[in-house]
Amino acid sequence: MARHCIKCEVLLTDTNWYTPSRNNKDYKCKTCIRKKETKANKLQLYINGKYISRKDPLYNMFKPGNYKTLGDATFFNSKLSAIQEGYVYIISNRSWPHWVKIGMAIDAEDRLNSYQTSSPYRDYVLEHRVFSSDRRASEQEAHTKASAICIGRANEWFELSVREAITILDNLNEHGHSGTPTEADTHTEEDNIQGSLF
Ligand SMILES: [Zn+2]
Repeated sequence: MARHCIKCEVLLTDTNWYTPSRNNKDYKCKTCIRKKETKANKLQLYINGKYISRKDPLYNMFKPGNYKTLGDATFFNSKLSAIQEGYVYIISNRSWPHWVKIGMAIDAEDRLNSYQTSSPYRDYVLEHRVFSSDRRASEQEAHTKASAICIGRANEWFELSVREAITILDNLNEHGHSGTPTEADTHTEEDNIQGSLF
């Protein structure tokens, strides 16, 4: 006897009807089941890979989504996340010579400070930063350019000299602004702006 999906009324066949559905006399086609799952997934909240149930007080604090950390969840649910401007920065650490981190943040010094808390030596160095009217686009551009010339790469860390990384940041197109050209040419390997923090 011909059966039809109770949602969309399509004729249920071998190809559009899951076997478990058939066995359970569940008259819903694959498309309708997938739609329902997608809808349910859109309401799920994950933080740091952990599933947050609707009974958890955290659930109502954030829009559903998959956040890397609680800090990320807080950030992406705040007005701050709407800010496009910010900085693309270069951070180094003497423990990993010849490697630099290229990242973006609304405030580069604030980002450096959070790095320092993870090191007993407070030995991260903010080598350089440039302002961008679209920090995400500028970071993407910097990563693409760094990827093309680096020896190795691990996420946002590149095996690259500080000088090469500075050149990339000083030559970002439309969104990036490294200041006046004369200023941009004065950098040396030793030039870092960490001193201004303390
Ligand atoms: Zn259907």
